[in-house]
Amino acid sequence: MSYVRCDGSHGYSFNESHQAEEGAADNLCARCRAAMVEAESARPMVERTWLLYARQRAEAEGRLSDFFPSTIQVRMCGDEPIVLARLRVDPEGPHWSWYQSHHPYNRRSRGHVTMIYPAKVLVDVCFPYGTGPEVKRGHGQLVRLSAEVVRPAVHPEGIRYDDSGGEAVEKG
Ligand SMILES: [Zn+2]
Repeated sequence: MSYVRCDGSHGYSFNESHQAEEGAADNLCARCRAAMVEAESARPMVERTWLLYARQRAEAEGRLSDFFPSTIQVRMCGDEPIVLARLRVDPEGPHWSWYQSHHPYNRRSRGHVTMIYPAKVLVDVCFPYGTGPEVKRGHGQLVRLSAEVVRPAVHPEGIRYDDSGGEAVEKG
């Protein structure tokens, strides 16, 4: 039996490391897995929303694209107006994305959505072997999202995340 370090370990010293369950696909010990499940159920993905900035493209009937946590990142994608958007899980939604689970692997982006694109394949190619192996490791899920405009953005501003997976708008 070999020692596999639990991904929920906090450091690399002997004292900070602990062992993952043998053969566990998620590389976690039972206690860290329970903490992940508890965090997911405290803020269920299907009940929550996420704030992100996006480019509103007039030539595409105002369709939103290029979702990022700061207006500076969106501005790099084009000169169109930038809006603050609220996203939610929607099985029929036009955007595909990667939901980052509460697995310790995701660190400060736990519970957030990222890699938001208009097609499933565009999310898949963000991973060397597609999203399948990542799902198996418990790192996240492919989800469809819909987005609504909250207000025009005041450039520059950004979203600040807290450790509980919450978010707030920060100016400048
Ligand atoms: Zn652990």
